[in-house]
Amino acid sequence: MTSQTNLPEIADVLIIGAGASGGVAARRLVDAGLSVVALEQGEWQDATQYRGAYWDWELGALKTWSSNPNVRQSPADYPVDVSDSDMGVINFNGVGGATILFNAVWMRLTPDDFRRRSANGVGDDWPISYEELQPFYERTDREIGVSGLAGDPVYPPPNDEFPLPPFNLRPGALKVARAVASKGWHWWPPTNAIITANYDGRRGCVLRGACQTGCNEGAKSSIDVTHWKPAVKAGCNLVTGARVRRILLDEGGLAAGAEWLDVDGGVHVQRARIVLCAANGVGTARLLLASAGEGHPDGLANSSGLVGRHLMLHPLAKVTGFFAEPLESWEGPFATDLTVLEFANVDRSRGHVAPVKWSMHHGGAGPVAEGLKVLTEQAPGGEHHARFRTRFGRTIGWTIMAEDMPDENNRVTLSPDLVDSSGLPAPKVRYRYNDDVLRALTWNVERSSDILRDAGAFEIETLNPGMADAHLMGTARMGDDPKTSVVDRWGMSHDVPNLGIIDGSIFVTASCVNPTSTICALALRTAERLIDTRAEWREPKVPVVPAAPAGRPRAEAPAPASPVFSAGERERLAALADALLPGDEVMPPASGVDVAGAGLDRVLSARPDLAEILHTLLAEPVSDPLAWLGALKDRSAADHRQLLIAVAGAYYTDKRIKDLVGYPGQPETPHRPDRGVPAYMEEGLLDHLFAAQ
Ligand SMILES: Cc1cc2nc3c(=O)[nH]c(=O)nc-3n(C[C@H](O)[C@H](O)[C@H](O)COP(=O)(O)OP(=O)(O)OC[C@H]3O[C@@H](n4cnc5c(N)ncnc54)[C@H](O)[C@@H]3O)c2cc1C
Ligand code: SF4
Repeated sequence: MTSQTNLPEIADVLIIGAGASGGVAARRLVDAGLSVVALEQGEWQDATQYRGAYWDWELGALKTWSSNPNVRQSPADYPVDVSDSDMGVINFNGVGGATILFNAVWMRLTPDDFRRRSANGVGDDWPISYEELQPFYERTDREIGVSGLAGDPVYPPPNDEFPLPPFNLRPGALKVARAVASKGWHWWPPTNAIITANYDGRRGCVLRGACQTGCNEGAKSSIDVTHWKPAVKAGCNLVTGARVRRILLDEGGLAAGAEWLDVDGGVHVQRARIVLCAANGVGTARLLLASAGEGHPDGLANSSGLVGRHLMLHPLAKVTGFFAEPLESWEGPFATDLTVLEFANVDRSRGHVAPVKWSMHHGGAGPVAEGLKVLTEQAPGGEHHARFRTRFGRTIGWTIMAEDMPDENNRVTLSPDLVDSSGLPAPKVRYRYNDDVLRALTWNVERSSDILRDAGAFEIETLNPGMADAHLMGTARMGDDPKTSVVDRWGMSHDVPNLGIIDGSIFVTASCVNPTSTICALALRTAERLIDTRAEWREPKVPVVPAAPAGRPRAEAPAPASPVFSAGERERLAALADALLPGDEVMPPASGVDVAGAGLDRVLSARPDLAEILHTLLAEPVSDPLAWLGALKDRSAADHRQLLIAVAGAYYTDKRIKDLVGYPGQPETPHRPDRGVPAYMEEGLLDHLFAAQ
């Protein structure tokens, strides 16, 4: 953490939130010689401690490295109230923001995404065009180190070379590419924010597949690596553990700084000439609403009443195909093996409007996640191992992602009762699926299932709709009219001219592609604009600091219960584990690998938080394990899941079990990109796209 005493009294620019957008802006602004202070509620991450390189990565992924803040519950997080929402939201709070956990799919919006209403009569138009953003996309692509194959006729111009070659197609992806090409449909190798070879002092991807719990190598272009480290080196003052409580104005209504709380509850004021919100599509709306005051009782920058409204997520469906042959689907990267944009346009003849993108990936699940899934879905008992064998390492999946439409009733407000670890109101998300989007998902699920069958899948599993989303957009939309938008075409507030917003809040349409490339390009564009117009900046006066409650130290996570388990508790766990994992002709039962002994101790060393619920569950005698498990599931699905995590974790992290299921762990396998003409091009699998041009 930067020492607080070193901070400039008045920074040129104050950035709130050290995620993707904040990093891109900070790096550019300090390079231009401006003094920048950034306040981040979380901390720097130590890449050597990401669990991907260790035996317990899957256990960590279910708690400390979960993308769900309501599961992580770390003091750096704020909870999100999703009790009245069709979809949950996910994030990460720390330097790098959600890019610490992101999948690094890196795509640009298309020109039509910026003019959805004029082009297709739905949604809205942005006040800016793709062409205005294009130079900023190109610059951020180079800074990030994007890998991909140039020349996609469907991808936005100019289709010049990417800094790095794409990932090679894995055998499973090749089967799928053949199936898609035989229909004459679009497909293309992925564009990822992952370096496929050494680049810019960073080590290329080693295919661990643990991208969603942080990349040990720095091959994934999380923004702490690509932007925050260079920004700090160039003089940016990044303060971690600094939670902004509200943005402050001067008496003339200019943004004059922000009030923030340190981890001990100390209250600080940082003054600045420009304030930029970079707290993401939920965090920024929360902060603006929490900054209500005299003259703006409904929140700051909110004369339109639109702060928090038009929340757009990316409704998702998941389609998984099971294949007879081993595909080693645990191997990395997790992101995308290939992309299908055949249906990423508006065509009403399909019976829906929403454009949809398909991303193919090869699963990414290790044995604990796969074992847990089988335990969750099946009745306990004998079929577990047979089912596990059909799944593990043999799946290919589609993530089907639909463009959300802006709806002002989908919104972020402040929760009346939920607070974060500093006692500040948590955001409440209220989101309803759009009927057209649901039709679009179903239409695409059917066709993407057919493709997997054509590629050889003998069984298809679908989740439609499903999953929480991390693409948080639209809650402070951009526009030329202050009555219908929150910020102008440069990302600056209509109401407060020196207050900018640079995260996904300012999106007008959602597109059906992942947003972070566009978030970063927009942040760079705003930073450039501020540099160019510096001579015109108005100087704010001393901030007015209305009375507010004293800060309070952050509530720490409760200390874990004792990891010491009695003989009786272990006996009960052994009986339950054997009922869940009884053993068959290949696999030993749970007791065969001491799940309730060394296995339990191993799990607790990685997940001490499980001790409390296990002590509670194992307190009473268990006479009939199967009946006991059924009753627990009926009584509390959450407690039942914790028990399954402990059992699957203890069993599938055992060395003998890993050998039996053929899991090598997450070894380093340096990726060697194909520098010649890739085999799929030689095979002509892209020819139909060039012929159609
Ligand atoms: C699991 C997962 C997978 C994803 N995969 C992809 C993908 O493949 N492709 C893609 O394009 N996108 C993906 N995303 C989304 C992507 O990470 C986000 O779009 C991007 O990080 C958003 O950048 P941002 O700057 O808006 O906010 P964030 O990166 O979320 O950063 C916001 C920061 O602000 C801080 N903050 C918030 N409030 C305060 C406050 N009051 N005071 C101080 N600090 C505060 C937070 O702690 C956080 O660090 C994924 C995200 C997740 C979680
Ligand atoms: S697969 Fe590549 S990008 Fe993903 S965590 Fe491993 S090294 Fe990093």
